[in-house]
Amino acid sequence: MKIKTLLAGVAAGALMVSLAACSSGGSGSGDSSGGGDGGLIGVAMPTKSSERWIQDGDAVKSQLEDAGFTVDLQYAEDDIPTQVSQIENMITKGAKALIVASIDGTTLTSVLQEAADNDIPVIAYDRLIRDTENVDYYASFDNYKVGVQQANSVLNGLGLVDLDGAAVDGAPAGPFNIELFAGSPDDNNATFFWDGAIDTLQPYIDKGTLVVKSGQEDFEQAATLRWDGETAQKRMENILTSTYSDGSKVNAVLSPYDGISRGIISALTDAGYTVGAEWPVISGQDAELDSVKAIDSGEQYATIFKDTRNLAKVAVEMATALLNGEEPEVNNTTDYDNGVKVVPSYLLESQIVVKDNINEVLVDSGYWTEDEIKG
Ligand code: BGC
Repeated sequence: MKIKTLLAGVAAGALMVSLAACSSGGSGSGDSSGGGDGGLIGVAMPTKSSERWIQDGDAVKSQLEDAGFTVDLQYAEDDIPTQVSQIENMITKGAKALIVASIDGTTLTSVLQEAADNDIPVIAYDRLIRDTENVDYYASFDNYKVGVQQANSVLNGLGLVDLDGAAVDGAPAGPFNIELFAGSPDDNNATFFWDGAIDTLQPYIDKGTLVVKSGQEDFEQAATLRWDGETAQKRMENILTSTYSDGSKVNAVLSPYDGISRGIISALTDAGYTVGAEWPVISGQDAELDSVKAIDSGEQYATIFKDTRNLAKVAVEMATALLNGEEPEVNNTTDYDNGVKVVPSYLLESQIVVKDNINEVLVDSGYWTEDEIKG
């Protein structure tokens, strides 16, 4: 670790100890040290257009404030130059650390060089930052496994496997028509999700149980720039027109994100599909409220729940450790090569949500209330 960072860490460490001393006396949160004696931390999030990032931002901000930091939380509405200039501003304002969920993981090289020149540690939040040595740690989920879970949720909806992916006795032989969607090609996670999903689906495609009727089986064909729901809706409309005008039906759609699933659902509805009558199995990700409602009503079969509160906790602990001159805890030092180095990572586990376990996974954990889901 760089010496200056260490020195900054020692100072911050002393501060954290005194903060801990202040707050250890009582469990009350009356202490309003959210005022920020611990210094400024910059938090760059990609967009407010997706609920999950709002929850991430809120969780990171409040946990950092509880730890005594001041927070500059910025959203860039999926515009890369905006994100770059927001991070530049954070550096100018004297941020002591940066937590960054990138829009395009390859576009931050020069602004992160500036951060490094100022000895500001950088934590990649959920999305790996690529092509730079100036990213210190990575907080995320096991993204390959998320893709496996997405595929298993689709296979489960078709009656082929249980939610852990174990084959079901007497499973139907198919063939089932499936269409495949991937995430944004500039987001490192998108290929992890895709690889996990395709590795899981491929044996069924090879056996003929699943048929990608459009023939669009490559990541490049399936990718959805910026994870945009309307882009996905248009692609689904095109597939329905080009491939299913003969009266055949789509039985399943692999979707990597709830917003994409909602676009797919609109295209299907517009094409005359109705829930309950040959409605396809559709996957998702993020447990966004509208999509949880859609699972409850049968429009979407499943989503993948990634608890943003826990991810925020990991990122905040990483930042705090770094500023204390300590080594953040990691549990993966092999899988996330950003093109320049393998970034030490802490990966959390995700869960499949289907109609039957909404309460158990999402309500009991306090992520959504029953009223919000039914409302
Ligand atoms: C995140 C997903 C999210 C997607 C779209 C990915 O980087 O890991 O949770 O669905 O971005 O926002």
